[in-house]
Amino acid sequence: MLVTVTRAYKTELALNDRQVTACKRHAGAARYAYNWGLARKQEVYAATGKSPSAIDLHRELNALKQTELSWMYEVSKCAPQEALRNLDNAFDHFFRRAKLKRQGKLKGKLGFPKRKSKKQGLGSFRLTGAIAVFPDAIQLPRLGRLRLKERGYFPAAGVKMLSATVSEQAGHWSVSVQVEQAREVPTNIGPIVGVDLGVKTLATLSDGTVIPNPRPLKRRLKKIKRLHKAVTRKQKGSKNRKKAARTLAKHYRTIAHQRANTLHQVTTRLAKTKSVIVIEDLNVAGMLTNHQLAQAIADVGFAEFKRQLLYKASWYGSRVIIASRWEPSSKTCSGCGWVDEELTLADRTFRCKNPECLLVLDRDLNAAINLSKLAGSSSDSRNACGAASAGLSRPAQVKLTVVKQEPNTLRPLVG
Ligand SMILES: [Zn+2]
Repeated sequence: MLVTVTRAYKTELALNDRQVTACKRHAGAARYAYNWGLARKQEVYAATGKSPSAIDLHRELNALKQTELSWMYEVSKCAPQEALRNLDNAFDHFFRRAKLKRQGKLKGKLGFPKRKSKKQGLGSFRLTGAIAVFPDAIQLPRLGRLRLKERGYFPAAGVKMLSATVSEQAGHWSVSVQVEQAREVPTNIGPIVGVDLGVKTLATLSDGTVIPNPRPLKRRLKKIKRLHKAVTRKQKGSKNRKKAARTLAKHYRTIAHQRANTLHQVTTRLAKTKSVIVIEDLNVAGMLTNHQLAQAIADVGFAEFKRQLLYKASWYGSRVIIASRWEPSSKTCSGCGWVDEELTLADRTFRCKNPECLLVLDRDLNAAINLSKLAGSSSDSRNACGAASAGLSRPAQVKLTVVKQEPNTLRPLVG
Protein backbone atom coordinates (compact mmCIF):
# COMPACT_ATOMS: atom_id res chain seq x y z
CA MET A 1 0.00 0.00 0.00
CA LEU A 2 1.37 3.41 -0.98
CA VAL A 3 0.76 6.15 1.58
CA THR A 4 1.89 9.74 1.98
CA VAL A 5 3.83 10.28 5.16
CA THR A 6 5.21 13.41 6.78
CA ARG A 7 8.60 13.06 8.33
CA ALA A 8 11.53 15.15 9.44
CA TYR A 9 15.21 14.90 8.59
CA LYS A 10 17.51 16.54 11.10
CA THR A 11 21.20 17.09 10.58
CA GLU A 12 23.98 19.35 11.81
CA LEU A 13 24.97 22.54 10.01
CA ALA A 14 28.53 23.70 9.35
CA LEU A 15 28.09 27.46 9.62
CA ASN A 16 30.62 30.24 9.14
CA ASP A 17 30.69 33.23 11.51
CA ARG A 18 28.49 35.38 9.33
CA GLN A 19 25.88 32.62 9.10
CA VAL A 20 25.98 32.03 12.86
CA THR A 21 25.24 35.73 13.37
CA ALA A 22 22.36 35.57 10.91
CA CYS A 23 20.93 32.46 12.61
CA LYS A 24 21.25 34.07 16.05
CA ARG A 25 19.38 37.09 14.72
CA HIS A 26 16.58 34.89 13.38
CA ALA A 27 16.34 32.93 16.63
CA GLY A 28 16.31 36.25 18.50
CA ALA A 29 13.47 37.58 16.34
CA ALA A 30 11.47 34.38 16.90
CA ARG A 31 12.02 34.59 20.64
CA TYR A 32 11.10 38.27 20.67
CA ALA A 33 7.90 37.66 18.71
CA TYR A 34 6.92 34.78 21.00
CA ASN A 35 7.44 36.82 24.18
CA TRP A 36 5.80 39.88 22.68
CA GLY A 37 2.80 37.80 21.54
CA LEU A 38 2.50 36.20 24.98
CA ALA A 39 2.44 39.60 26.67
CA ARG A 40 -0.05 40.98 24.11
CA LYS A 41 -2.39 38.00 24.56
CA GLN A 42 -2.40 38.55 28.32
CA GLU A 43 -2.97 42.31 27.97
CA VAL A 44 -5.77 41.99 25.46
CA TYR A 45 -7.40 39.19 27.42
CA ALA A 46 -7.31 41.24 30.63
CA ALA A 47 -8.89 44.20 28.83
CA THR A 48 -11.50 42.51 26.62
CA GLY A 49 -11.83 38.91 27.80
CA LYS A 50 -10.85 37.72 24.32
CA SER A 51 -7.52 36.40 23.12
CA PRO A 52 -6.05 37.61 19.79
CA SER A 53 -5.16 34.89 17.26
CA ALA A 54 -1.78 34.33 15.62
CA ILE A 55 -3.06 36.18 12.54
CA ASP A 56 -4.22 39.19 14.58
CA LEU A 57 -0.86 39.33 16.33
CA HIS A 58 1.06 38.99 13.09
CA ARG A 59 -0.81 41.93 11.62
CA GLU A 60 -0.08 44.01 14.70
CA LEU A 61 3.58 43.02 14.68
CA ASN A 62 3.90 43.97 11.02
CA ALA A 63 2.62 47.44 11.84
CA LEU A 64 5.21 47.74 14.62
CA LYS A 65 7.94 46.71 12.19
CA GLN A 66 7.43 49.97 10.36
CA THR A 67 8.18 51.94 13.50
CA GLU A 68 9.94 50.61 16.57
CA LEU A 69 10.78 47.11 15.37
CA SER A 70 12.53 48.04 12.12
CA TRP A 71 15.41 45.67 13.00
CA MET A 72 13.04 42.80 12.19
CA TYR A 73 13.40 43.59 8.49
CA GLU A 74 16.82 41.99 8.71
CA VAL A 75 15.29 38.55 9.20
CA SER A 76 12.90 36.44 7.19
CA LYS A 77 9.29 37.31 7.95
CA CYS A 78 8.71 33.61 8.61
CA ALA A 79 10.70 33.60 11.85
CA PRO A 80 8.33 35.83 13.87
CA GLN A 81 5.27 34.51 12.05
CA GLU A 82 6.02 30.87 12.86
CA ALA A 83 6.91 31.82 16.45
CA LEU A 84 3.43 33.30 16.84
CA ARG A 85 2.01 30.08 15.43
CA ASN A 86 4.01 28.15 18.05
CA LEU A 87 2.55 30.43 20.70
CA ASP A 88 -0.95 29.55 19.49
CA ASN A 89 -0.08 25.86 19.75
CA ALA A 90 1.27 26.38 23.26
CA PHE A 91 -2.07 27.92 24.27
CA ASP A 92 -4.02 25.09 22.60
CA HIS A 93 -1.92 22.63 24.58
CA PHE A 94 -2.58 24.54 27.78
CA PHE A 95 -6.35 24.64 27.22
CA ARG A 96 -6.40 20.95 26.33
CA ARG A 97 -4.66 20.12 29.60
CA ALA A 98 -6.91 22.51 31.53
CA LYS A 99 -9.92 20.63 30.16
CA LEU A 100 -8.43 17.28 31.22
CA LYS A 101 -7.79 18.73 34.67
CA ARG A 102 -11.41 19.85 35.00
CA GLN A 103 -12.47 16.32 34.12
CA GLY A 104 -10.11 14.99 36.78
CA LYS A 105 -7.94 13.15 34.26
CA LEU A 106 -4.77 15.11 34.92
CA LYS A 107 -2.72 15.55 38.06
CA GLY A 108 0.29 17.53 36.88
CA LYS A 109 0.91 21.12 36.00
CA LEU A 110 -1.10 22.84 33.29
CA GLY A 111 1.90 24.35 31.57
CA PHE A 112 0.80 27.92 30.97
CA PRO A 113 3.01 29.26 28.12
CA LYS A 114 6.19 30.78 29.51
CA ARG A 115 8.45 33.51 28.26
CA LYS A 116 11.44 32.20 26.34
CA SER A 117 14.68 33.24 27.98
CA LYS A 118 18.04 33.45 26.29
CA LYS A 119 19.47 31.78 29.37
CA GLN A 120 17.83 28.55 28.27
CA GLY A 121 19.71 28.56 24.99
CA LEU A 122 19.40 30.51 21.79
CA GLY A 123 16.39 28.44 20.79
CA SER A 124 15.17 27.89 17.26
CA PHE A 125 13.23 29.37 14.37
CA ARG A 126 11.15 27.88 11.57
CA LEU A 127 11.13 28.94 7.93
CA THR A 128 8.72 28.04 5.16
CA GLY A 129 8.76 28.88 1.48
CA ALA A 130 11.62 28.34 -0.95
CA ILE A 131 13.65 25.51 0.60
CA ALA A 132 16.00 23.41 -1.53
CA VAL A 133 18.36 20.64 -0.51
CA PHE A 134 21.65 19.52 -2.05
CA PRO A 135 23.91 16.65 -1.07
CA ASP A 136 26.14 18.95 0.98
CA ALA A 137 23.98 22.00 1.67
CA ILE A 138 20.53 23.43 2.25
CA GLN A 139 19.15 26.61 0.72
CA LEU A 140 16.90 28.64 3.02
CA PRO A 141 15.00 31.90 2.56
CA ARG A 142 17.11 34.90 3.65
CA LEU A 143 19.95 32.74 5.01
CA GLY A 144 21.08 31.43 1.64
CA ARG A 145 23.06 28.26 1.17
CA LEU A 146 24.19 26.63 4.44
CA ARG A 147 26.71 23.78 4.44
CA LEU A 148 25.90 20.46 6.13
CA LYS A 149 28.31 18.36 8.22
CA GLU A 150 27.03 15.09 6.77
CA ARG A 151 26.80 14.49 3.01
CA GLY A 152 23.73 13.12 1.25
CA TYR A 153 21.44 12.80 4.26
CA PHE A 154 18.40 14.58 2.85
CA PRO A 155 16.22 12.74 0.31
CA ALA A 156 17.15 13.96 -3.15
CA ALA A 157 13.92 13.53 -5.07
CA GLY A 158 10.23 12.71 -4.75
CA VAL A 159 9.61 14.83 -1.68
CA LYS A 160 7.72 18.02 -0.97
CA MET A 161 9.48 20.43 1.40
CA LEU A 162 7.12 21.77 4.06
CA SER A 163 9.34 23.69 6.45
CA ALA A 164 12.82 23.92 7.95
CA THR A 165 13.61 24.51 11.61
CA VAL A 166 17.05 25.75 12.58
CA SER A 167 18.03 25.24 16.23
CA GLU A 168 21.00 25.62 18.52
CA GLN A 169 22.06 23.31 21.32
CA ALA A 170 25.28 23.64 23.31
CA GLY A 171 26.98 25.57 20.50
CA HIS A 172 25.89 23.24 17.70
CA TRP A 173 23.46 24.38 15.02
CA SER A 174 21.14 21.89 13.31
CA VAL A 175 18.44 22.03 10.71
CA SER A 176 15.36 19.82 10.71
CA VAL A 177 13.48 19.62 7.43
CA GLN A 178 9.86 18.55 7.41
CA VAL A 179 8.96 16.76 4.17
CA GLU A 180 6.03 14.93 2.66
CA GLN A 181 6.89 11.77 0.78
CA ALA A 182 5.21 8.71 -0.64
CA ARG A 183 6.07 5.46 1.04
CA GLU A 184 5.31 1.81 0.36
CA VAL A 185 3.89 0.22 3.52
CA PRO A 186 4.44 -3.56 3.70
CA THR A 187 2.05 -6.12 5.20
CA ASN A 188 3.41 -6.95 8.63
CA ILE A 189 2.99 -10.57 9.68
CA GLY A 190 5.11 -10.53 12.83
CA PRO A 191 3.97 -11.67 16.31
CA ILE A 192 2.18 -9.62 18.97
CA VAL A 193 4.34 -8.21 21.73
CA GLY A 194 3.82 -6.33 25.00
CA VAL A 195 6.50 -3.82 25.99
CA ASP A 196 7.13 -2.65 29.55
CA LEU A 197 9.30 0.45 29.70
CA GLY A 198 11.53 0.83 32.71
CA VAL A 199 14.23 2.82 34.41
CA LYS A 200 16.69 0.06 35.33
CA THR A 201 16.36 -1.55 31.91
CA LEU A 202 15.12 0.34 28.90
CA ALA A 203 12.39 -2.16 28.05
CA THR A 204 11.19 -5.71 28.72
CA LEU A 205 9.27 -7.56 26.00
CA SER A 206 6.59 -10.14 26.69
CA ASP A 207 8.66 -12.76 24.81
CA GLY A 208 11.33 -12.41 27.51
CA THR A 209 13.74 -10.15 25.66
CA VAL A 210 15.37 -7.57 27.91
CA ILE A 211 16.68 -4.40 26.29
CA PRO A 212 19.27 -2.76 28.53
CA ASN A 213 19.94 0.94 28.82
CA PRO A 214 22.84 2.27 26.78
CA ARG A 215 25.91 1.36 28.81
CA PRO A 216 27.61 4.74 29.12
CA LEU A 217 24.48 6.25 30.69
CA LYS A 218 25.31 5.37 34.30
CA ARG A 219 28.84 6.68 34.13
CA ARG A 220 27.67 9.87 32.50
CA LEU A 221 24.97 10.38 35.10
CA LYS A 222 27.65 10.43 37.81
CA LYS A 223 29.61 12.96 35.85
CA ILE A 224 26.51 15.11 35.35
CA LYS A 225 25.82 15.15 39.08
CA ARG A 226 29.36 16.41 39.59
CA LEU A 227 28.98 19.06 36.88
CA HIS A 228 25.71 20.23 38.42
CA LYS A 229 27.50 20.79 41.71
CA ALA A 230 30.29 22.61 39.90
CA VAL A 231 27.76 25.04 38.45
CA THR A 232 26.01 25.81 41.74
CA ARG A 233 29.31 26.35 43.56
CA LYS A 234 30.35 29.13 41.19
CA GLN A 235 29.27 32.69 41.87
CA LYS A 236 26.00 33.68 40.18
CA GLY A 237 26.52 35.74 37.05
CA SER A 238 30.24 34.96 36.92
CA LYS A 239 32.17 33.92 33.83
CA ASN A 240 33.16 30.65 35.51
CA ARG A 241 29.57 29.79 36.20
CA LYS A 242 28.71 30.35 32.56
CA LYS A 243 31.61 28.13 31.54
CA ALA A 244 30.55 25.35 33.92
CA ALA A 245 26.97 25.59 32.67
CA ARG A 246 28.21 25.20 29.12
CA THR A 247 30.15 22.04 29.96
CA LEU A 248 27.05 20.65 31.67
CA ALA A 249 24.90 21.43 28.63
CA LYS A 250 27.37 19.59 26.40
CA HIS A 251 27.12 16.45 28.55
CA TYR A 252 23.33 16.59 28.53
CA ARG A 253 23.47 16.83 24.76
CA THR A 254 25.66 13.72 24.50
CA ILE A 255 23.36 11.73 26.79
CA ALA A 256 20.30 12.84 24.86
CA HIS A 257 21.91 11.74 21.59
CA GLN A 258 22.99 8.35 22.93
CA ARG A 259 19.53 7.68 24.27
CA ALA A 260 17.81 8.84 21.09
CA ASN A 261 20.10 6.56 19.10
CA THR A 262 19.23 3.52 21.21
CA LEU A 263 15.54 4.37 21.08
CA HIS A 264 15.68 4.62 17.29
CA GLN A 265 17.26 1.18 17.01
CA VAL A 266 14.71 -0.40 19.35
CA THR A 267 11.61 1.27 17.88
CA THR A 268 12.66 0.48 14.30
CA ARG A 269 13.24 -3.16 15.17
CA LEU A 270 9.89 -3.44 16.96
CA ALA A 271 7.89 -1.71 14.23
CA LYS A 272 9.54 -3.82 11.53
CA THR A 273 9.26 -7.24 13.16
CA LYS A 274 6.05 -7.15 15.25
CA SER A 275 2.55 -6.82 13.87
CA VAL A 276 1.04 -5.49 17.11
CA ILE A 277 2.91 -3.66 19.88
CA VAL A 278 1.16 -2.95 23.17
CA ILE A 279 2.61 -0.26 25.42
CA GLU A 280 1.36 1.42 28.53
CA ASP A 281 0.27 5.04 28.37
CA LEU A 282 2.77 7.14 30.20
CA ASN A 283 1.91 9.08 33.29
CA VAL A 284 4.08 11.98 32.25
CA ALA A 285 2.41 14.39 34.68
CA GLY A 286 3.11 12.05 37.59
CA MET A 287 6.61 11.36 36.43
CA LEU A 288 7.60 14.98 36.38
CA THR A 289 7.17 15.17 40.13
CA ASN A 290 10.04 12.73 40.53
CA HIS A 291 13.23 14.70 40.72
CA GLN A 292 15.69 11.87 40.46
CA LEU A 293 18.08 12.41 37.63
CA ALA A 294 18.01 8.92 36.18
CA GLN A 295 14.24 8.94 36.30
CA ALA A 296 14.05 12.35 34.67
CA ILE A 297 16.18 11.21 31.76
CA ALA A 298 14.25 7.96 31.43
CA ASP A 299 11.02 9.95 31.32
CA VAL A 300 12.13 11.95 28.34
CA GLY A 301 12.94 8.61 26.74
CA PHE A 302 9.43 7.23 27.37
CA ALA A 303 7.68 10.03 25.54
CA GLU A 304 10.20 9.81 22.72
CA PHE A 305 9.79 6.00 22.56
CA LYS A 306 6.04 6.36 22.10
CA ARG A 307 6.44 9.10 19.49
CA GLN A 308 8.95 7.11 17.44
CA LEU A 309 6.99 3.89 17.71
CA LEU A 310 3.79 5.53 16.48
CA TYR A 311 5.24 7.00 13.32
CA LYS A 312 7.40 3.98 12.55
CA ALA A 313 4.40 1.68 12.97
CA SER A 314 2.69 3.63 10.20
CA TRP A 315 5.74 3.11 7.99
CA TYR A 316 6.15 -0.61 8.57
CA GLY A 317 2.50 -1.67 8.71
CA SER A 318 2.40 -2.58 12.39
CA ARG A 319 -0.13 -1.46 14.96
CA VAL A 320 0.45 0.20 18.34
CA ILE A 321 -2.03 -0.26 21.17
CA ILE A 322 -1.73 2.11 24.08
CA ALA A 323 -3.07 0.67 27.31
CA SER A 324 -4.80 2.97 29.75
CA ARG A 325 -2.49 4.01 32.53
CA TRP A 326 -5.22 3.58 35.12
CA GLU A 327 -5.10 -0.19 34.86
CA PRO A 328 -2.54 -2.01 36.99
CA SER A 329 -0.51 -3.96 34.45
CA SER A 330 2.34 -4.53 36.89
CA LYS A 331 0.05 -5.41 39.80
CA THR A 332 -1.94 -8.06 37.94
CA CYS A 333 -0.78 -11.68 37.77
CA SER A 334 -0.22 -12.61 34.14
CA GLY A 335 -1.07 -16.22 35.00
CA CYS A 336 -4.39 -15.97 36.83
CA GLY A 337 -5.45 -12.33 37.00
CA TRP A 338 -5.02 -11.96 40.78
CA VAL A 339 -4.16 -8.36 41.71
CA ASP A 340 -1.41 -7.56 44.20
CA GLU A 341 -2.53 -4.23 45.67
CA GLU A 342 0.53 -4.10 47.88
CA LEU A 343 3.13 -4.30 45.12
CA THR A 344 5.52 -1.37 45.38
CA LEU A 345 8.08 0.03 42.98
CA ALA A 346 10.83 -1.60 45.05
CA ASP A 347 9.45 -5.12 44.41
CA ARG A 348 11.40 -6.38 41.41
CA THR A 349 9.70 -9.78 41.39
CA PHE A 350 6.00 -10.46 41.06
CA ARG A 351 4.79 -13.18 43.45
CA CYS A 352 1.23 -14.37 42.96
CA LYS A 353 -0.47 -15.13 46.27
CA ASN A 354 -3.36 -17.03 44.73
CA PRO A 355 -2.71 -20.46 46.33
CA GLU A 356 -3.69 -22.24 43.15
CA CYS A 357 -1.33 -20.19 40.93
CA LEU A 358 1.75 -18.99 42.89
CA LEU A 359 3.37 -17.57 39.80
CA VAL A 360 6.78 -16.03 40.41
CA LEU A 361 8.02 -13.82 37.63
CA ASP A 362 10.21 -10.81 36.99
CA ARG A 363 8.03 -7.76 37.61
CA ASP A 364 8.66 -6.15 34.22
CA LEU A 365 8.14 -9.39 32.30
CA ASN A 366 4.85 -9.94 34.11
CA ALA A 367 3.73 -6.43 33.11
CA ALA A 368 4.83 -6.96 29.50
CA ILE A 369 2.85 -10.23 29.25
CA ASN A 370 -0.26 -8.48 30.62
CA LEU A 371 0.16 -5.78 28.00
CA SER A 372 0.54 -8.31 25.17
CA LYS A 373 -2.77 -9.88 26.22
CA LEU A 374 -4.54 -6.62 25.45
CA ALA A 375 -3.88 -6.99 21.75
CA GLY A 376 -6.68 -9.47 21.18
CA SER A 377 -9.30 -7.48 23.07
CA SER A 378 -9.04 -4.29 21.06
CA SER A 379 -8.49 -5.23 17.45
CA ASP A 380 -11.45 -3.18 16.24
CA SER A 381 -10.75 0.13 17.89
CA ARG A 382 -7.96 1.75 16.07
CA ASN A 383 -7.54 5.17 14.67
CA ALA A 384 -5.80 6.58 11.63
CA CYS A 385 -2.28 6.71 13.03
CA GLY A 386 -2.34 3.09 14.04
CA ALA A 387 -2.84 3.67 17.73
CA ALA A 388 -5.70 2.50 19.82
CA SER A 389 -6.60 2.79 23.43
CA ALA A 390 -7.53 -0.18 25.51
CA GLY A 391 -8.36 -0.76 29.10
CA LEU A 392 -6.55 -3.67 30.71
CA SER A 393 -9.02 -6.47 30.79
CA ARG A 394 -8.41 -9.16 33.34
CA PRO A 395 -6.68 -12.08 31.67
CA ALA A 396 -8.95 -15.07 31.29
CA GLN A 397 -8.64 -17.71 33.99
CA VAL A 398 -6.00 -20.09 32.76
CA LYS A 399 -5.03 -23.58 33.88
CA LEU A 400 -3.51 -23.22 37.30
CA THR A 401 0.08 -24.21 37.15
CA VAL A 402 3.08 -23.22 39.19
CA VAL A 403 5.51 -21.46 36.95
CA LYS A 404 8.82 -20.68 38.54
CA GLN A 405 10.68 -18.67 36.04
CA GLU A 406 13.61 -16.37 36.39
CA PRO A 407 13.69 -13.49 33.94
CA ASN A 408 15.22 -14.59 30.68
CA THR A 409 18.00 -12.26 29.92
CA LEU A 410 18.07 -13.00 26.26
CA ARG A 411 20.25 -11.45 23.64
CA PRO A 412 19.69 -7.73 23.84
CA LEU A 413 18.48 -5.94 20.72
CA VAL A 414 21.36 -3.53 20.94
CA GLY A 415 24.89 -4.12 22.06
ZN1 LIG B 1 -1.48 -15.90 39.60
